[in-house]
Amino acid sequence: MAGFIPAIHVLGWANKKDVDARDKPGHDEGERVCRNASQEHLVVKPPAACLIGWPAAHSRSPLIHHYWLRALGIEGGYSIEAVPPEGFAEFVLHLSAHGFVGANVTIPHKERALALSRPDARARAVGAANTLWYQGGELCSTNTDVEGFVGNLDACAAGWDSATDVLVLGAGGAARAVVFGLIERGVARVHLANRTMARARALADQFGAHVHPVAWEAIDDLLPRAQLLVNTTSLGMHGQPALELDVGLLPSDAVVADLVYVPLQTPLLTAARARGLKTADGLGMLLHQAVRGFELWFGQRPEVTPELRALVEADLTKL
Ligand code: NAP
Repeated sequence: MAGFIPAIHVLGWANKKDVDARDKPGHDEGERVCRNASQEHLVVKPPAACLIGWPAAHSRSPLIHHYWLRALGIEGGYSIEAVPPEGFAEFVLHLSAHGFVGANVTIPHKERALALSRPDARARAVGAANTLWYQGGELCSTNTDVEGFVGNLDACAAGWDSATDVLVLGAGGAARAVVFGLIERGVARVHLANRTMARARALADQFGAHVHPVAWEAIDDLLPRAQLLVNTTSLGMHGQPALELDVGLLPSDAVVADLVYVPLQTPLLTAARARGLKTADGLGMLLHQAVRGFELWFGQRPEVTPELRALVEADLTKL
């Protein structure tokens, strides 16, 4: 790939004299002096990843990744990098030279990230990449919303994937990740209801025979056979209208997932829990989607723990 600069790999730790070099003026805290295979000395910083966005909005990603770095005793970092659209290609194509082993990508860069990297099937299906990493010197990308969605359901409602009929509300970017995850896990029929029917049809055309577009007005007719209901619309989000829907029409063993996480407890989830249904919330998906990036950058698969959840919940309630 044009302009690509490969990552520096730590090939061996330095002797004491080399390590003492850290105390010299101009040497950053946390740097290590190592030798490469030719016995040349290299100054290597602990691995760091970042979130690239514009503007650099407040994000929970640093909180999540620093928690895991601490919990696993890994020396590493995670920062937020404000990169304007006109600087994005240069930044991403020289990510390693900028000091990063990988990155998360957010608005407005996700589609460019896909185009500038080697995307996996998930990123291609969603049409957007949110996670970048190097593999064999090549910049690769994925979309971890897929894994976040299914990982959260696995954690909250094991066995959910025996569902044959799933009702998905919405046909935006998040819906594409959800639909891909459902098909990947073998769901036979995904009924897709969206306010703008043309978007539901377009998504069904993309994903093929498993996806059945339905009119927004047909939701009530479908609820009695929906073993899993997923809200991927922004309805129920703080500042948005509520999602008007009767969870009483769902089967008694249905699972309800809501991607909205502000507020944490949406009216849809409150109603589902009141009926004794299993639920999976948006915060759980947000935490689970971060797992894969961390594993790709820092080499260990982290866990979504109750302690991490409490930490991020506390941050969300500050708003
Ligand atoms: P998007 O691409 O803008 O899509 C928004 C969807 O909501 C569209 O289907 C849209 O329908 C529908 N919608 C908006 N207002 C509506 C209304 N008044 N009535 C009926 N439908 C309405 O957004 P997105 O990226 O898919 O995100 C959707 C939601 O998922 C957001 O709340 C986002 O925060 C959440 N999300 C959460 C996670 C997580 O990790 N928990 C990850 C990704 C997204 P039309 O097509 O008719 O406009």
